[in-house]
Amino acid sequence: GGTIGILGGGQLGRMIAVAAKHMGYRIAVLDPTEDCPCAQVADHHIVADYDDTEAAERLSELSDVITYEFENVDLEVARLFEGAEKLPQGAYSLEVTQNRAKEKQIAVDAGLPVAAYEIVQTFDQFQKAMETIGFPAVIKTVSGGYDGKGQLPIGKEEDFDEVEKFIKEGGTYIVEQWITFDLEISQVFTRGLDGEITYFPVAENLHKNHILHETRVPAAVSDKVPKKAQEAVKALAEKIGIVGTFAVEMFVTGKDVYINEMAPRPHNSGHYTIEACSVSQFEQHVRAICGLPLLPIHSFPAAVMINVLGKHQDILHSRLENYSGFHLHDYGKGEARTNRKMGHITFIGNSLKEIDKQIKYNQIHMW
Ligand code: ATP
Ligand code: MG
Ligand code: MG
Repeated sequence: GGTIGILGGGQLGRMIAVAAKHMGYRIAVLDPTEDCPCAQVADHHIVADYDDTEAAERLSELSDVITYEFENVDLEVARLFEGAEKLPQGAYSLEVTQNRAKEKQIAVDAGLPVAAYEIVQTFDQFQKAMETIGFPAVIKTVSGGYDGKGQLPIGKEEDFDEVEKFIKEGGTYIVEQWITFDLEISQVFTRGLDGEITYFPVAENLHKNHILHETRVPAAVSDKVPKKAQEAVKALAEKIGIVGTFAVEMFVTGKDVYINEMAPRPHNSGHYTIEACSVSQFEQHVRAICGLPLLPIHSFPAAVMINVLGKHQDILHSRLENYSGFHLHDYGKGEARTNRKMGHITFIGNSLKEIDKQIKYNQIHMW
């Protein structure tokens, strides 16, 4: 028993809460939005900004243990919880993943391949960096970006004008070589307080407009790739001292695996684990932060998760009445804004071929 506090009340917070409630925990959530997805599931909702230290103290009083569901929560608040010995995930994991420069440095220190990169603060530094990185490249803000926001592709010298406008005084940016990958994968895993790691199957991720569209398991990679992915995340996990569920996004080119970015929490590409694995990324996360032994992971042979964005949610509900074969998750968000993640659906089966037939039959690929 006991109460788990969650910093952030989006869909990830909601799914952590649902898993925790099954296990008999109570939930307190801190989120500025009155009707955030987690509020419908939580026992207590503190409506306040993430950097509100008074609200944070209230969350701490209510909670035996605290977790964060996304990486852009206030680092000082996280340190406060860590000081009170209530944040098993730690603040360092957050500090690293809030900053692409730190993230890349950790990967380099762990001896893992990353796209060639330079950290720049001015347009002059950018031009200099491009001399070594070459075309094509991409420039990203070191912090705050997601779903492809806060980045600009650079294909040719004419794109420099855009970059000059993109670079703001006082900002810090990372310029990366563009990797022409075969596919993108993610390795979601959980590390316990005792250092034990369990790995979920490697997932293949397909993006549309820079937003995750579809996750496919098993990933279409050669035998060596999952082993490489596991070894890579193990090295990162031990360097960072990760506790809880964590995800690493990677690019695969042939046999090589490049580290792209990391998330110190359950991840969109791990949602398929709810139905496809004997323990989900959320339940395993709760077990890790509560100091329970992790469960071994057994999986269905194949799974596909598709994100439902914006108004497609309505289409989905009408589909449900006529079709079967998929599991629906509706996050209970109000306004169906374009590109807003409203829910997801998951197919499980014996093979991707069988699932693809189901997807076609359900006419899911209209969006
Ligand atoms: P997320 O929503 O996953 O947090 P993000 O906005 O933080 O994404 P990235 O994951 O760094 O940003 O980039 C978004 C996508 O852009 C990647 O999944 C990949 O498809 C593409 N991309 C980014 N950097 C590179 C690169 N160096 N080489 C090739 N493709 C890249
Ligand atoms: Mg990101
Ligand atoms: Mg990403």
